[in-house]
Amino acid sequence: MLSLIAYNQSLIDLLLLFTGFGISGIMIYVKIISIIEKEYRAAKISFLLSVIFFAPFISLYLYDFPYKEIASIVLLAVVVLVIILLFFPVRPKIKGGFQVPKEKHDERNVMFSRNELKPGTKQFDSYYSNNSDKKYLDDKFREKPGLLSPDSSMYHPFSFASAHANLEVIEALKPIVNGSVAKQVIDIEPSKISNYLKTWSKKLGAHSVGITELKDYHLYSHKGRGDLYGKEISNKQKYAIAITIEMDNEMMQTAPKGSVVMESTQQYLSSGTIALQLAYFIRNLGYSARAHIDGNYELICPLVARDAGLGEIGRMGLLMTLKLGPRVRIAVITTDIPLELDKRKDFSSVIDFCGICKKCADVCPSSSISFNQREEIKGVLRWKINHESCFTYWCTSGTDCGRCMAACPYAHPNNYMHNFIRWGISNSYIFRRFALYMDDLFYGRKPKSRNFPSWIDM
Ligand code: SF4
Ligand code: SF4
Repeated sequence: MLSLIAYNQSLIDLLLLFTGFGISGIMIYVKIISIIEKEYRAAKISFLLSVIFFAPFISLYLYDFPYKEIASIVLLAVVVLVIILLFFPVRPKIKGGFQVPKEKHDERNVMFSRNELKPGTKQFDSYYSNNSDKKYLDDKFREKPGLLSPDSSMYHPFSFASAHANLEVIEALKPIVNGSVAKQVIDIEPSKISNYLKTWSKKLGAHSVGITELKDYHLYSHKGRGDLYGKEISNKQKYAIAITIEMDNEMMQTAPKGSVVMESTQQYLSSGTIALQLAYFIRNLGYSARAHIDGNYELICPLVARDAGLGEIGRMGLLMTLKLGPRVRIAVITTDIPLELDKRKDFSSVIDFCGICKKCADVCPSSSISFNQREEIKGVLRWKINHESCFTYWCTSGTDCGRCMAACPYAHPNNYMHNFIRWGISNSYIFRRFALYMDDLFYGRKPKSRNFPSWIDM
């Protein structure tokens, strides 16, 4: 009997040691990753937690006292219970899953289009006589220095000049989004060419690629920018290929400083270049293809990317991808080449997480993101964004801000640690609540804006 008790005790001691070292080892791993990511608050907290979590296990192992065995079993049982609670898949059905807009958006209402209207022109007068409610709101951003202006609050010569350079190259690319199609049509197999296009895009730098049928609701009703302003949009191509490209985390963590606009324009350019390469390639095979790049879209990229299985539209109105959250830029190619479609995935966990998180709304300097639940807008449940106040802030800072994107818990780097947490978020209702609490603890409810990377801040 005595030997059985002694055997049990040594097994419990072993389990105590194993669990204590395991938990604090995980915390040390988090600390190392946090240092690599320059998340010093997270590094300090994870070190502290490694000590706090280790203490009860090592104390029970080292000291003898009455009921030690019971205390040890209770502690181990709590650990097992917490693991079950966090990782058992609890997935209640989320109201209003996949929804499609009942009416098309007019690109002329997009802030960039409104920003391009010049007072005194026919387009300006016509737009505001039809949308008098927007005149007062738009006068506010027109009073500000403007995007990339030297008078803006975040003006920084190098990053602003780099962003200008990116935009100038994009401008030069706009005329080649469409082109002539080779006369000879090459026979292709949809699954093979789809795989080829995806693999090649990734080799060119894309983060994710998806294919969907081009739907009418993907398209804007009218052009809002460029020479074709006001033209009704008609695109009968059958397929749309959406590609996302990562925006660098270090550059984004400086939001709303100049490196954000430098990075976003860079990734508009990079995603646009890939889209153009694919479009040229497809036309060379004898099929029509049009690239949709920054400033020359016919469609709403996040909506296409969502339907192509790349993510879900979150609280801040952007596509939330599973591995980078909103920290991506998107470009699209519409085409007639026969392709294999990707299935739309269930991203209702994103809707649920956005429902409780609200971190983007908390950090937004212009209070443009709603704290409320989703509401029906044009027949679709979504979070309301105040585009006018957001854009007015951009015209004040001179950058495209990005505070919301930088603070989002989904936007942490694409590595094992964060991917594991994102997996937990998608797996369990309970884990989502725990992950949000931990994100606030490790990174702060309102994470601070970082300084420029040293090579930019010369
Ligand atoms: S910050 Fe939170 S609420 Fe906002 S988009 Fe990201 S996950 Fe959703
Ligand atoms: S970009 Fe900035 S101003 Fe606009 S919604 Fe995000 S945080 Fe707010």
